[in-house]
Amino acid sequence: DQSVLSVTDLSVEYLTGDSSVKAVRDVSLHIEPGETLGIAGESGSGKSTLALAILRYLGDNGQITSGSINYEGQSILELSSAELKELRGNEIAHVPQDPNTALNPSMTVGEQIAEVVRTHRDVTRSEAMEQTYEVLQEVNLPDPETNASQYPHELSGGQQQRVILAIALACQPRLLILDEPTTGLDVTTQATILDLIDELIEEWDTSVLLITHNLGVINQISDRVGIMYAGEIMEMGTTESVFSSPANPYTQGLLASLPQGDDRRLKPIPGQIGDLRRIPNGCVFAERCEFATDECRDTPVEKVPVNDDPEHLTRCKRWEHALENPIQADSQ
Ligand code: ATP
Ligand code: MG
Repeated sequence: DQSVLSVTDLSVEYLTGDSSVKAVRDVSLHIEPGETLGIAGESGSGKSTLALAILRYLGDNGQITSGSINYEGQSILELSSAELKELRGNEIAHVPQDPNTALNPSMTVGEQIAEVVRTHRDVTRSEAMEQTYEVLQEVNLPDPETNASQYPHELSGGQQQRVILAIALACQPRLLILDEPTTGLDVTTQATILDLIDELIEEWDTSVLLITHNLGVINQISDRVGIMYAGEIMEMGTTESVFSSPANPYTQGLLASLPQGDDRRLKPIPGQIGDLRRIPNGCVFAERCEFATDECRDTPVEKVPVNDDPEHLTRCKRWEHALENPIQADSQ
């Protein structure tokens, strides 16, 4: 097994009061060396939960109820807390969705990066500072020496995002997990940050798990993509095959929701994710799906290969019908 990361049949629940939210169910994925896997899906589909579970960062009420997670062949779920700490710093970098939790407001940018460098590498204080300037340069901050002496609040949102990336890269991770790396930025800044991420991935040959609700971002950066809905991966395949032959009504609905041609409006799929405390027997998307039959609603859905391609999987009984009659933007 050459995969950098492989997740098999992972399920995660959050305990709330006397019920449990089944936030991630039966998720399998793999990421190969140098590869970028995108995960897309609407709000509440379980994307961040999946990322947190991989690094065992789930809070007190979150628990992995089944499945396995392997990093370079070793089981993350069996690591001791010391081994886990080592892995989180040296091997896998996680950039959380909320940028405020990624930066320490009371330390300068330079101190934060140098601290990361020094915990992970055996270097002197001045060598660490040198490396700090280098990574700040790497993420295209205008003036590394000045920026290093600044506090996070003295930087713009886009500059903060660059610093967060610099921190993630400072330990030269083999796997980078980015959770909505461009939220809260204006469109132009988003584009420059994405180009930067694209370049860094290329240059550092890092494997990436890229989480976003933005299919345009996935299209630009990911080699493969998993489309998540209500905790499950509905479709997975190369970005090219999923975008050109979406074989799941949910994927089709997401693609149709994007602005088309001159029409700049978003056309969201009607309805919303159901109650994750009560998962239906049948397909989780059935109640919003225009192709759903009684069988879809009542009986479990398996993942099946699309057109015999073992790398393109869909969780839909009616994928052939969907493929022939794709949902169009004007039908939503
Ligand atoms: P977004 O696009 O809004 O970031 P997401 O796909 O990242 O959404 P998650 O944050 O993983 O979604 O949430 C998945 C589900 O789990 C949601 O229903 C959410 O309300 C629930 N959830 C997340 N964290 C907790 C928690 N700590 N306790 C209880 N429920 C939680
Ligand atoms: Mg999230």
